[in-house]
Amino acid sequence: MNTFELIEKHGDDHEQVVFCRNKESGLRAIIAIHNTALGPALGGTRMWNYKSEEDALIDVLRLSKGMTYKAAVAGLNLGGGKAVIIGDSKTQKTEEMFRAFGAYVNSLNGQYITAEDVGTTVKDMEYLFMETPYVTGIPAAFGGSGDPSPYTAHGVFMAIKASVKEKFGSDEVAGLRVNVQGLGNVGRHLVEFLVQAGARVGIADIDADKVKGLTARMPELHVLGAEEIITSECDVFAPCALGAVINDQTIGRLKCKIVCGGANNQLAEARHGDALRELGILYAPDFVANAGGLMNVFVELEGYSSDRAFDKTKQVYENMLRVFKMAKDEDVATHVAANRVAEHRLNKIGALRKHYQGRTARPHSTLKEIVLRRP
Ligand code: NAD
Repeated sequence: MNTFELIEKHGDDHEQVVFCRNKESGLRAIIAIHNTALGPALGGTRMWNYKSEEDALIDVLRLSKGMTYKAAVAGLNLGGGKAVIIGDSKTQKTEEMFRAFGAYVNSLNGQYITAEDVGTTVKDMEYLFMETPYVTGIPAAFGGSGDPSPYTAHGVFMAIKASVKEKFGSDEVAGLRVNVQGLGNVGRHLVEFLVQAGARVGIADIDADKVKGLTARMPELHVLGAEEIITSECDVFAPCALGAVINDQTIGRLKCKIVCGGANNQLAEARHGDALRELGILYAPDFVANAGGLMNVFVELEGYSSDRAFDKTKQVYENMLRVFKMAKDEDVATHVAANRVAEHRLNKIGALRKHYQGRTARPHSTLKEIVLRRP
């Protein structure tokens, strides 16, 4: 399939796809801007050794669309975009490669704002920052927001409270059993919020040191095996490890009442969302629950304050309730409702700017202006 056919097949509604090549540094990258109806397209730069250019293109089209939906349902004035650099992040990174890529990002004049993702680090963002202001996730010393995980975890905690309210009528988590799978950056912070709130918390990680580290500080935690965490009885199962944990093998063995966690792409396929609904298990759509990290980055664009970022993540509670309401009103599964809430906002706000509103794009707009002056 040729390039345009691939774009038509996998990214029919994308606004722009930019191919970036720099001979001197060996850079080969693709930036995909899916939708800017709500604001500049924000999404990280992934560096991955793709088997083919076709794989890289399909991935960037898929990921950038996901960012549009995530920002829209989060209530942020951001659009969806993503970038991929083709190459081995362990052996092929150079300063000149990232600076060449930064120059490409800069040439888009703020339509696309980048951040860290799989295979890229704060150090790489520093190189980009030498060439463009349109980068987030830079070190705190440059006004950046640093590690997003505590904010993601707090958003997930708010999503759990909203799910508990929906299922049991009160958002009190004290006394409830919550099983957290994965004790990495997000999972371990989530465990802390849950313990503070009085929940009875079960934990599991394939890395024994992570379990040890946490139980040393919180001996009340209930340690489970990697399989047990999925199948043991609980009120809330909180996936915070890898994606696709709700699949054909696991779905029939779940003994939870709610699935709500921070991991991306928890449903192996969309049909597993329908299957959860049929089983009477409430599913809190992952991209609604884990938007706290994106909210944190958004605050960086406004001028960073960790208090404000933390406060913003409380919004996940209302966002999740809105999704549950849509699911009931339209008699659909919650993963379908989450997409509809996002599309509703995209259509309504996008329609506001059909007519000229007395503003023109200014090449030297600050990031703050770009984000805040949106309707
Ligand atoms: P991480 O790599 O720090 O932690 C993942 C943890 O899961 C590791 O400790 C790993 O050992 C464990 N794990 C892997 N497989 C497991 C299994 N089968 N059973 C139990 N534990 C297992 O990653 P993270 O930053 O905490 O992110 C977790 C998830 O949340 C990912 O899916 C990520 O995409 C998503 N997410 C993270 C953020 C963020 O701010 N970090 C934001 C949005 C979404």
